[in-house]
Amino acid sequence: MTTIYDIDSIEELRVRNAVQPHRIKRFRNALFKSSNDWNEALETLPEAARADFDRTITFQCLELAERHDSEIDGASKLIFKTHDHHLIESVILRPKTGRTSICISSQVGCACYCSFCATGKMGFTRNLTQAEILDQVTQANRMLRPEDRTIRNVVFMGMGEPLLNMDHVFSAVDFLRQPSLFNLSDARITVSTVGIPDAMETFIETYPDMQLALSLHSARQEVRQRMMPQARTYPLEQLRETLVAASKHGKVMIEYLMLAGVNDREEDFQALEEYLKGLPVHINLIPYNEYPGSNLQGTPEPERKAFGERLKTAGFDTTLRYSMGSDIAAACGQLVQHKQKEALL
Ligand code: SF4
Repeated sequence: MTTIYDIDSIEELRVRNAVQPHRIKRFRNALFKSSNDWNEALETLPEAARADFDRTITFQCLELAERHDSEIDGASKLIFKTHDHHLIESVILRPKTGRTSICISSQVGCACYCSFCATGKMGFTRNLTQAEILDQVTQANRMLRPEDRTIRNVVFMGMGEPLLNMDHVFSAVDFLRQPSLFNLSDARITVSTVGIPDAMETFIETYPDMQLALSLHSARQEVRQRMMPQARTYPLEQLRETLVAASKHGKVMIEYLMLAGVNDREEDFQALEEYLKGLPVHINLIPYNEYPGSNLQGTPEPERKAFGERLKTAGFDTTLRYSMGSDIAAACGQLVQHKQKEALL
């Protein structure tokens, strides 16, 4: 299958049809910068070449199965179906202040089994291809066109652990940052990980200016292991060495999901303060999106605020995140899991 992301095959097609390079540039701009639909993009090519391009190239590799728009805050959850009938999710975020962003998936399901995550309950099915990763952004841009918006931030924080699908994620990232394609600067791309030191180091070496986010969630080894089984393989001590290396290139985002009675107590605060001392990090305190079947509860907002204030007093850049799309089950994996259950009934 030749997709619109297959640069080499498109070059072969260009040569075969004797299309001038500037016409291919217009074709790419139509697809990735102007978010045109397929027929509009084809019209940028010489008429004689259109039939061959149309026959050879698959315009989109994901099928939009559902779209849910929040009535509260401008989030849209998209459910896509892959060619082999798996469901994945992406979430468009339209913050009132700030750039339109998309949170995208990198795998079907996930092998990390984090206790708080709906995707973690599904198990792992397969990695997404480069084209399936990019198609989430392309289709979102086309949906946003009537609103005169375009995706300005891409966050790999949806279903899956991006650094366990490194080849395809890196190849998608290369496509996103190319000036002749999506033209997103490194500062506009964030890759979030549960903390796999070797892969994090490769990421930092390859993309020193790109934003890395570490899902820390606890600075106490036994608590972290309970929340994230991967932490058994990659203990906090080892992870800290990687954080030191990463912080030489700028601030690392620390994601800290706050769960009542799990990681929000005095000893949790002290461990976090001690663990991050001296590191240039930005801590995001994240509210928990409860979902049916989960026996966890989020830390109430006043306590979360107080935790954040103490971190600020201790000298850390800290942001209290607010949950977007709570009315459309925007937590990672939540809606797909619900759909899969429905399919079984
Ligand atoms: S939080 Fe991320 S890494 Fe953990 S199970 Fe969910 S998708 Fe996987």
